[in-house]
Amino acid sequence: MREGQRRRVQRGLLGGLTLLIVASLWWVWHWQLTRETRDAIDHAESRLALYSSSLEGALQRFTYLPDLLARQPLVRNALSGDDTTPASRVNAHLARVAERSGAEAIYLMNDRGVTLAASNHDSPQSFVGHRYHYRPYFIEAMRGKQGEFFAVGSTTGRPGYFVSAPVYASGDAQRIIGALAVKISLESLQEDWRRADEKVLLSDANGVVILSSRPAWRFRRLGALDAAALETIRAQRQFVGNPLAPLGHRLADGSLLIGAAGVGERFFTQASPLGELGWTMHYLVPVRPLYASARNAVLASAAVWLALVLLGLWLRERQQRLRLRLREASIMREANERLEIRVAERTRELESAQAELVQAGKLAALGTMAAGIAHELNQPLAGIRTYAASGARLIERGRQSAAADNFQRIQTLSDRLATLIRQLKLFARKGGAREPVDLLARLDFVLELLGERLSRQDVALHLDLPDEASRPVWVAGDDIRLEQLLTNLLRNALDALREVDSPCLEIGVALEGERVVLTVTDNGPGIEAQTLKHLFDPFFTTKRVGDGLGLGLFISYGIVQDLDGRIRADNRPASQGGGAHFRVELPGLQGATPARPARKETLT
Ligand code: ADP
Repeated sequence: MREGQRRRVQRGLLGGLTLLIVASLWWVWHWQLTRETRDAIDHAESRLALYSSSLEGALQRFTYLPDLLARQPLVRNALSGDDTTPASRVNAHLARVAERSGAEAIYLMNDRGVTLAASNHDSPQSFVGHRYHYRPYFIEAMRGKQGEFFAVGSTTGRPGYFVSAPVYASGDAQRIIGALAVKISLESLQEDWRRADEKVLLSDANGVVILSSRPAWRFRRLGALDAAALETIRAQRQFVGNPLAPLGHRLADGSLLIGAAGVGERFFTQASPLGELGWTMHYLVPVRPLYASARNAVLASAAVWLALVLLGLWLRERQQRLRLRLREASIMREANERLEIRVAERTRELESAQAELVQAGKLAALGTMAAGIAHELNQPLAGIRTYAASGARLIERGRQSAAADNFQRIQTLSDRLATLIRQLKLFARKGGAREPVDLLARLDFVLELLGERLSRQDVALHLDLPDEASRPVWVAGDDIRLEQLLTNLLRNALDALREVDSPCLEIGVALEGERVVLTVTDNGPGIEAQTLKHLFDPFFTTKRVGDGLGLGLFISYGIVQDLDGRIRADNRPASQGGGAHFRVELPGLQGATPARPARKETLT
């Protein structure tokens, strides 16, 4: 996929995700608000039912009472006008009944509405003497009906529910002579609502709040009041001059706003009508907690979304990192493979170059060797030829003794040729036996051979050998080659000590772990740097013609290599006496047992 195309797809996905998130948050808001509102309304309805029934119960307790009292002769007689019943008796009776029934007040009015007796006759706010002809409950009673009315008491100023019944004359069941009224206080009911911390209202038929869990909402109107209604209220002195200001106003969504816009409280109202009085019970559900709950649900969903988005981003980041790591690993692998291929190629090239070099080296060595052998053979042969020719002439001339001298020289030259050939044969004899050989015994043997030369040159010999416990010192090889090695090293040292004032030869044998180390040190002139480079080359010699063949160290090197050892030559520092120092390391065979007794033969 191209970069631009991928970007477009990513942008599309991002847009889709944003839309999805917004839609889901909107849905959560709506769903939570609806659910909370439904729950609140369900709750409101159940509370309304409870409060309505408790109010109706409270009112019904008293509906029978006025009629019951109105039928009592004591009450009737009090209104009959014959004045046989003292008012004090009626007062006391009413006071007793009020106290027992729990009514706030019970009072008796004559046909003009003047109170003749009352349960609160002895209180400062006694109804006795007051006239209530304007009250609907009086009017209703005078019409022979039961009156029911809610109003603020014009004498006490305390609101209450009034129930009344007509009082008929004793002899005439059709003549109404007055009315008996019971005032019931609903304050305790209101107090219950307040204690339950619920917003409950009771409005009358005009929509005026007559009871409320909040005192400030009382005697406020819920809707509009027309002039006639206002006039009636005024005439009946129902609310004793209360201005009946509106409680709040309805908003477009049907909720009721109480207080100023912005700072007021909003409520959803649930209403339930109450019996024949035209009263309505209202339960107010505050809107703010519903919105708060919906908002919290949205916040919680937003948090979940945020967590999901972060998780997604983290997973994406991780995947990218993983992909990058895999790509790096594959790059590394490819680079390694390329490197290995190059190394293999290079190794092949080097191997073939080395093979060529070895081949060239072999040819060069063969050439050098052939030239050396030719040179070494040529000189004695030329001498032999010359001595033979001159010897023949000497015999012809009869000079026998001179000829004999020639034959002697020819023999010497032949011996030299034989020595050369023997050396070459030894060199050619590669890969001899590898059996345990006591190096010290071989050294003894060689020293014995060279004993005559040592004493002739007056050489001081220092031996530094392992103690008895470590003897014999076994090395892997064969007698002949080890003797040859020792002979070559010691002869070279003796050659170097020829012109030295106090010649000294030090021979050391030591055990270093698995290896046996042989050192030969003389205090001769030492080896020049130039000579050191070619020391182990075949036919390299600094000795006079006839003294050395230049094969000794070459052969020694071959022997040491053959025995898996190492040979090194250098000079001893002048501070320690100077001279040449040879060090030979050979693989040891400690603890080995010889397969045969040590050979005792002379090396020539
Ligand atoms: P050759 O003894 O026949 O010369 P070698 O191979 O044994 O051949 O020795 C090569 C050369 O190494 C000698 O000619 C000599 O110059 C040098 N050399 C060997 N051993 C010693 C020594 N101990 N001190 C000084 N030079 C030495």
